[in-house]
Amino acid sequence: MGLIQRLPQDVVNRMAAGEVLARPCNAIKELVENSLDAGATEIMVNMQNGGLKLLQVSDNGKGIEREDFALVCERFATSKLQKFEDLMHMKTYGFRGEALASLSHVAKVNIVSKRADAKCAYQANFLDGKMTADTKPAAGKNGTCITATDLFYNLPTRRNKMTTHGEEAKMVNDTLLRFAIHRPDVSFALRQNQAGDFRTKGDGNFRDVVCNLLGRDVADTILPLSLNSTRLKFTFTGHISKPIASATAAIAQNRKTSRSFFSVFINGRSVRCDILKHPIDEVLGARQLHAQFCALHLQIDETRIDVNVHPTKNSVIFLEKEEIIEEIRAYFEKVIGEIFGFEALDVE
Ligand code: ADP
Ligand code: MG
Repeated sequence: MGLIQRLPQDVVNRMAAGEVLARPCNAIKELVENSLDAGATEIMVNMQNGGLKLLQVSDNGKGIEREDFALVCERFATSKLQKFEDLMHMKTYGFRGEALASLSHVAKVNIVSKRADAKCAYQANFLDGKMTADTKPAAGKNGTCITATDLFYNLPTRRNKMTTHGEEAKMVNDTLLRFAIHRPDVSFALRQNQAGDFRTKGDGNFRDVVCNLLGRDVADTILPLSLNSTRLKFTFTGHISKPIASATAAIAQNRKTSRSFFSVFINGRSVRCDILKHPIDEVLGARQLHAQFCALHLQIDETRIDVNVHPTKNSVIFLEKEEIIEEIRAYFEKVIGEIFGFEALDVE
């Protein structure tokens, strides 16, 4: 008899799910993206114990049809992508139909949802990709509320590793903050009865959001960035706060009197890869400067970029990467030289 055996399907599913959702903040990213895809203008996040005990996202988006409930947590079931060619023109965050399925393999999931044209809301529970019983009428406003309890209850090693709930909560907070700053037109709220709680108005005022989240000192010094390259078919925009001497910034951060924020969105997607951070750090680092706030957006022709590298869609592949990065670096060098000169080098 050979030694190779097929792993049981539930183990395969759990392992795959654990890769998409490594920690609570990954689940939040997926749920918030679903809410944005559903056209929500108000998104509220609740959590307990860093999201491990409870993680809940409610929105006022278009809701889920009662008939679709049975499929929402099934792997590779989506309302957003029909054929492979559509991948070239995805306008939504989601398209792989993996997030809710994954969540239901590593947590107990409850969904309450109401479409504007339905008489009432419906709710159901989900486990391991399946609805556990038929949908039931429920009380609820237009929109969707997804609750995950006991995250990683069936991955004990992972759960036991996440003992510092504060650290997980901080990462959830950071994830939501990125969305809030990227989308000032949407109201975001975080509730966990802790210092990190916040709520943005959703009235489209970017400076107000920055002021609310990072303080007036940072918001008042913010400058726009903008570069358009017809040759390489990209647009680079963003905002940066006036850099201060790195030494001053380090002291403030050690005293915890200030925090830094850096985010990169490529074609509207939050990406964690450092490709855009490097040129900025290089230019600032050479002058021993540090910017407390930096939010960058890179828009690239859809046909020249692939976001389908990994289920988390955290990394992207795009054409002429080095040349694009070099143009951005040169532009940023010019901006820093022209606007800030050397004045910012004065240590206060
Ligand atoms: P994907 O986003 O890739 O389609 P998901 O597993 O994240 O896959 O979601 C599966 C489907 O469930 C979506 O295609 C969408 O139809 C529905 N859905 C999920 N969350 C929401 C929500 N907050 N509002 C409305 N529909 C939702
Ligand atoms: Mg999704």
